[in-house]
Amino acid sequence: MKSQKQFKRRFSFEFFPPKSDKGAETLHQTRDKLATLNPEFFSVTFGAGGSTREGTKNTVIELNQKGISTAPHLSCVGSDKAIISDLLDAYKEGGVERIVALRGDIPSGMGNTGYGEMRYANELVEYIREHSGDHFSLEVAAYPEFHPQAQSAEADLMNFKRKVEAGANSAITQYFFNVESYFHFIDRLEKMGVDIPVVPGIMPIVNFQKVVQFSEMCGADVPRWIRKQMEAYGDDTDSIKKFGEEVVTRMCEQLLDAGAPGLHFYTLNQADPSMRIWKNLGLDNEVQEKIAF
Ligand code: FAD
Repeated sequence: MKSQKQFKRRFSFEFFPPKSDKGAETLHQTRDKLATLNPEFFSVTFGAGGSTREGTKNTVIELNQKGISTAPHLSCVGSDKAIISDLLDAYKEGGVERIVALRGDIPSGMGNTGYGEMRYANELVEYIREHSGDHFSLEVAAYPEFHPQAQSAEADLMNFKRKVEAGANSAITQYFFNVESYFHFIDRLEKMGVDIPVVPGIMPIVNFQKVVQFSEMCGADVPRWIRKQMEAYGDDTDSIKKFGEEVVTRMCEQLLDAGAPGLHFYTLNQADPSMRIWKNLGLDNEVQEKIAF
């Protein structure tokens, strides 16, 4: 973990673009609450195959104008360079300075034909650098428990390195519940000479069944001891939330104590679960001190 300690800590929150007026209202309330924590940035996801292209763009430009730097997620799967270059130009014009550059997932049913002009995220990073130079700070995805489609752990690490060599400035991880996987991933990167901040992605546990379902799709391991304890709570949702909050808070504490360079919260457009963890961690003081300084 030596290499990560040299980086300034940064905190960020991720949203998805709203699909309705009610969703937009919820996002604005969430944004306003989380803005009081003065995070480094917000980010807004991008639907598979470009399904939220306009929604992501409009949400990002609107949030960015409200004062907290906001980064679009941008995936290359099912897209082409002409579409991506238009988006990059629109983002530059809209004052955006950071992009989360991803491959994305091929919409189901499209098979290999759905890839588009760029097949992997390293090609997207390379293209953004070619098109926009150093204008954007580029985040890429990292997988401490390895990407579900990776040929092997070694291949996945090499593929991550490719994204860094193509020009990524920092990375955000898929969420995980095993801190050891993050420590191991960082140790492996250090041995490979890869030296960028890798910020843990944090999923607050609110609806445990949904977390389990989503974890199966994205390859995150939900440890047996957490599953068993949650099962024992049955439909006692208060206990589930309380235990989930304790587990995630403890994990964040371990990560930050060991030198993780900040946290990125997957908020699912809800402010309170992330804010409770934030409070438990005593981060208010850290960020306020920074503002005062
Ligand atoms: P890549 O880095 O391209 O890796 C994908 C797979 O291909 C890996 O198994 C890798 O080992 C392999 N690979 C990479 N390069 C090569 C190569 N040159 N040759 C052979 N194999 C290679 N999805 C969305 O649809 N929208 C979002 O907004 C979104 N946001 C995300 C944010 C974060 C922080 C994270 C961690 C994930 C996010 N995802 C999102 C999910 C992500 O799109 C999927 O996990 C996707 O399957 C992989 O994207 P990637 O950018 O990691 O791809």
